[in-house]
Amino acid sequence: MPILPGATLGILGGGQLGRMFTLAARTMGYKVMVLDPDAASPAGQMADVHVRADYTDLAALRTLGAACAAVTTEFENVPAASLIELANHCRVSPGADAVAIVQDRSHEKAWLADNGFATAPFALVNSEVDLDAALAATGTPALLKVSRFGYDGKGQARVATLSEARAAFREFGGQPCVLEGFVQLELEISVVLARDDAGHCALFPVAENRHDNGILDISIVPARVPDSLAHEARGMACTVADKLGYVGVMAVEFFVAGGQLMINEIAPRPHNSGHYTLDACVTDQFEQQVRVLCGLPLGDTRLLSPVVMVNLLGDRWHNGGPHWAALLSHPALKLHLYGKEAARPGRKMGHFNVLDADPEAALQLAEKMRNAL
Ligand code: AMP
Repeated sequence: MPILPGATLGILGGGQLGRMFTLAARTMGYKVMVLDPDAASPAGQMADVHVRADYTDLAALRTLGAACAAVTTEFENVPAASLIELANHCRVSPGADAVAIVQDRSHEKAWLADNGFATAPFALVNSEVDLDAALAATGTPALLKVSRFGYDGKGQARVATLSEARAAFREFGGQPCVLEGFVQLELEISVVLARDDAGHCALFPVAENRHDNGILDISIVPARVPDSLAHEARGMACTVADKLGYVGVMAVEFFVAGGQLMINEIAPRPHNSGHYTLDACVTDQFEQQVRVLCGLPLGDTRLLSPVVMVNLLGDRWHNGGPHWAALLSHPALKLHLYGKEAARPGRKMGHFNVLDADPEAALQLAEKMRNAL
């Protein structure tokens, strides 16, 4: 029996992804309970109930478990133990096992290699003595990345020599890391998908992603890649979800190098590169998250229009904020702000989508508006 409107859904994490989940769920008639320690969290502002507590707070988890028909998460660093505790009380998706693999870069890379997926050359680094052999395996330059809690280019250092690698490893406090060979990227693409309990997979169109300083800047959809490559990426993403036994919305990020695909990262949640779906698809990634969590049939992922998504980072707020009037003067530009008070460099404050039947015109307007901010 699916969970129907009127029921309460829970989400661990109150950031922008949680906010957009909350909005989608409430639009569909569900009540939403958000768990996040931050009193001003973007999702907490939109929720029916905001439980302000840590993700490991047993009493808070039990409150959620008792009130909610189902609970999901908006970030990968949720403690697996919290998901296991919640699963004693209500439906939980995604499951703790899949989250435990993808929240740790070392586990994720090892899992991808064990399952035959192409990745950038990598080596696991658990102590300083591993660095020499690791550099020999990956070649230089290479990127040293912390295994846990790194995001948006944070916890990453580019290294060209053993002494640089040692310095970076010490800088990261000697925690477990992955060393990755630096790949000459032609392009980055991603696929957001949902997989339900029966193993059905609904894939969104492939996004072409441009990063700035390790942070997503622009997504272009459809991605400007050959159909065969898009098809292959979608197939690989679906196989990843199948092999993880994944239930929920997830994203797979790819590098394209030498015309070949390599998997960069898996995110066990909706993804920044899927924000275009909010305005350009029959079903958006957050409604899809509600649907899969509730055991409803997966929504139609059809693209209704070419679209370009632009991230709005806190860097743009230096002179009192972007020029909203100019941005909103374009009738096919759709603005989404996350309700964050403090603008810091690199902080994701919002995004906008530009729709146009002509993909090049959408990109041109998106870039023009981005550069004029
Ligand atoms: P990550 O947080 O690992 O996804 O890295 C953020 C961004 O840094 C990626 O989207 C790429 O643009 C770049 N990057 C990460 N790893 C590599 C690599 N091995 N080679 C080249 N560029 C990379």
